[in-house]
Amino acid sequence: MSEKVPKKATGQKPAGQKPAGQKPAGEKPAAKKAAPRTPRKAAPRKAAARKTSRSGRKRGPSSADIAGLVVLALTVSLAACNGMKGGGQTETGQAQTAPEGQVTVRFLDVGQGDAVLVRSPEGKTMLIDGGRSMSRMEDHMKTYGIDKIDVMVATHADADHIAGLVAAAEAKPTLFINNGLGGTTKTWERLVAALQAQKTTFRKASNQIVNLGSVKVQVIGPPPGVGDAQNDNSVGVALQFGDFRALMTGDSELKETAAWLEQDRAGIRGPFQAYKSIHHGAANGDNPAWLAVVRPENVVISVGENNYGHPTKTALDLYKQNGIRIYRTDQNGTVTFTGNADGTYTVDAQR
Ligand SMILES: [Zn+2]
Repeated sequence: MSEKVPKKATGQKPAGQKPAGQKPAGEKPAAKKAAPRTPRKAAPRKAAARKTSRSGRKRGPSSADIAGLVVLALTVSLAACNGMKGGGQTETGQAQTAPEGQVTVRFLDVGQGDAVLVRSPEGKTMLIDGGRSMSRMEDHMKTYGIDKIDVMVATHADADHIAGLVAAAEAKPTLFINNGLGGTTKTWERLVAALQAQKTTFRKASNQIVNLGSVKVQVIGPPPGVGDAQNDNSVGVALQFGDFRALMTGDSELKETAAWLEQDRAGIRGPFQAYKSIHHGAANGDNPAWLAVVRPENVVISVGENNYGHPTKTALDLYKQNGIRIYRTDQNGTVTFTGNADGTYTVDAQR
C-alpha cells in the first residue's frame, strides 16, 4: 500500500504555533551553534579550488586533480543554486538553504516492541530502539543495508526496546544516547558490552540537538521528578527535516507526558506528520491533553502478539476521535514515511 499525502494547507496551522515550534526559546544556543557550520566550511573549499587550479596549470593536472576540480566546481555551483533559491534566515542572520533530498522514517515491524530507523538524505543513520529480537533486527539490517549507525537511541532499558540493539551494535554506532538509568538485566549488560567493544560514545539524554546530516534531531530528556520507573524515563526524539517532522517517545506514561506538558517543551509541539503511538497503544500512554499539543497527522502503533491487550480500545478511540490516521505494524508490517523539506510526504505500508 502506498499513498501520497498532500501537504496540509498552511491556513490550517494555527498562527503563531509554527515559529515557536521551530525556534524554541529554551533551545536557541544549540541551534545557533549548528547553523553556521556549512557557510564556514564552504569558504576555505573555494580558496582551495583556486590554489589547485593554479599549481595544476604549471605542472599539468593529474587525473586526481581534475576529478577534484570537478567535484569542487560542482560543490560551488550547487552552493550558488541553493543561494539563489533562498530560504529561511537563521538567528545569526545567515541565509539557510532549504535541505535537499528526502528523509525516511521507518517504523520497523519487530513484533511486540519498538524500532524506528531514520535515514537522512546524506545517508546518515539513526536507530531508535531495536525491538525484542536480535535475529529480527539482523534481518532488518540486511534488508535495509545498515552497515553503519551514526546515532543509536535506547528510549529506555526494557527488553522489547533494547534486545535488538545488541545485534544492531554490529553497525558500529558512533553515538549512543539513553535515559541515564542503566538496566538491571543481562540484556542491558550485553548491550553495554557490545557498544563498548565498538568504542561507541555514551551520552545521557539532556535535551541536546544532534545533527543527522541535514536532519535536526531534538533529544527530549526525561523530566525531573518522575521517579525511576523505566517507562516514565523514556527518552523522546523529535526530528525535523525542513517542514517535515516526526516524534517518538518510547513508553512514556501519563506522569512523564504530563511533566513535559508542564515544562511546555517546544520539542513536543505539533503538528507532526509521523508519530509513534506511546507504549504500543496502552491505555496509560497517549491522552487527550497530550495529543492536543502534539497534533499528529498519522500514528504508527508498534505492536505484535501480546498479553497486555495492546493496542487498547482507549488508544484506538482516542486516535479516531482526533482524526489521526492509524497504522499498525501487526497489520501493516513495516511502515515507512518519506518526507520532503516542504513538508510533503508519502507513507508506504508493507501490507
Ligand atoms: Zn515497550
